[in-house]
Amino acid sequence: MAVALHKRGLDVHVYERAPALGEYGAGLQLGPNCFRVFRALGLGDALRRAAFEPLNNVSINWDDGSLRYIEPMKGNYEPRFGAPYMTAHRGDLHRLFRENLPERRVSVSKHCIGAESRGEIAVARFSDGTEIEADVLIGADGIRSAIRQQLFGADSPRYTEQMAWRAIVPIDRVPRAFGPNNSTRLDRGDYFGWLGPNGHVICYPIGDGDMLNIFAGHVSEDWVEESWTAPSSKEELIAAHAGWNEALLEIYSHVGDVFKWGIFDRDPRPEWRSGRVVLLGDAAHPTMPTLAQGANMAIEDGYVIARCLADHVDDPVAGLKAFVAERQPRTARVTLQSRQQFANNRMVPAPPPLSRDWIFEHDVTA
Ligand SMILES: Cc1cc2nc3c(=O)[nH]c(=O)nc-3n(C[C@H](O)[C@H](O)[C@H](O)COP(=O)(O)OP(=O)(O)OC[C@H]3O[C@@H](n4cnc5c(N)ncnc54)[C@H](O)[C@@H]3O)c2cc1C
Repeated sequence: MAVALHKRGLDVHVYERAPALGEYGAGLQLGPNCFRVFRALGLGDALRRAAFEPLNNVSINWDDGSLRYIEPMKGNYEPRFGAPYMTAHRGDLHRLFRENLPERRVSVSKHCIGAESRGEIAVARFSDGTEIEADVLIGADGIRSAIRQQLFGADSPRYTEQMAWRAIVPIDRVPRAFGPNNSTRLDRGDYFGWLGPNGHVICYPIGDGDMLNIFAGHVSEDWVEESWTAPSSKEELIAAHAGWNEALLEIYSHVGDVFKWGIFDRDPRPEWRSGRVVLLGDAAHPTMPTLAQGANMAIEDGYVIARCLADHVDDPVAGLKAFVAERQPRTARVTLQSRQQFANNRMVPAPPPLSRDWIFEHDVTA
C-alpha cells in the first residue's frame, strides 16, 4: 500500500508498532492477480528474482501417497491468466517493499491507540502520547485492528476451527519418488500437497527454490493458546499426522523450528470507512488461508486505494468511498469462498477444489 501511494506521488507515512521492520513467518503464495500489481508498480522483474515460480501442482493421496492429480503451473498460468503464480519467503517480499519506499517515510515503535476524523483532517493518536494529522488515515493494522475497534466497536474475530503449523525444510530432504511402486514423482520445483482427514498440507519452494515451505492446516475445535501464534515442535506435528503418507512424515522429520497458528476470520462487513479513516487488508476483511489470498487481497487493496486517492486528490473522502465500493464485494466473495473451500476439504471424499479462476483473472491495474 505505502509503495503504491508513494509511486503515485502521494505523501505517505507509515507508523508501525514494532520496534524494527522485519517479517517473521515463512512462505506466501502470490496469485497472478497479485503479480499484476507488482508489475504495474514496476516491480514485476524484481518479484521474479525474489520469488519462485513452481513447476506443477501435485496433489497426493494422504494415506498411500498415490497421485490424486497433477496440474502444470509454470508455462500454464502465465499464458492462461496473463501473469505467473509465484511463491516467496515473506522476508524477501518485505525487503522488496522496503527498497521501494524511502526510509524517512516509515516510523517504528509507533503504537496507534486511536484514530478519528476532525472536520477536514484525520488524527491518529499513539501510545507515546503523540498525535499526527493527515488528509486520510488508513488502518492496515491486521486482524486485531485497534482502528477497526475504534471505528466500529469491539468484537472478536471468529475462530474457524482450523489451526495450522508452519515450518521450513531444505528442499534436498524431499523424497522424489514414493507411493505405490514409486509411481508418484516430484520435481524439485513442484508445489505439492496432501488432503486428508481433518487436515491438508501444502508444500512449496521459496527463496531460490532451495527451501521448502510447509503449511499444515488441521481441524481443531479448541484453540487454547492465549497468543494466536505459538511455538510448537516436530513431535507435535508428526503426532497429528499419524497414519499419513510416509513421504510426508519423512519431510517432517527434517523440520527445525515449528510454529502453530490459530486461524481466525470475520464476517464480511459492508462499510470500512468512517469520515477520513478507512480500514485495509486484514483489518477490513480477515480471511482463512484456504485460498491463499489474504495478503493478495491486501496488496490489491493497496494498489486500488492509491489509484482512488490519486483520482480524487481534491476530495480524499470521495477517494475513500470509491476504494470501499470497489473492494468490498470482491474481498467479501474471497472470504466466503475461503470458508466454503475449508468446509469442502472436510468432506469425505472431498470434492474437487473450487475454481479460483475468477480470482486470478481479476485485474485491479486495468
Ligand atoms: C498460516 C497462514 C498462512 C497464510 N498464507 C497466505 C498465503 O499463502 N497467501 C496470502 O495471500 N495470504 C496468506 N495468509 C494471510 C496473510 O498473512 C494476511 O492476510 C496478511 O498478512 C494481511 O496483511 P495486513 O498487512 O493486512 O496485516 P498484517 O500482516 O497483520 O500486518 C499488520 C501490521 O500492523 C502492525 N500493527 C498492528 N497493530 C498496530 C497498531 N495499533 N499500531 C501500529 N501498528 C500496528 C503490525 O505490527 C503489522 O506490521 C496466511 C495467513 C496465515 C495465518
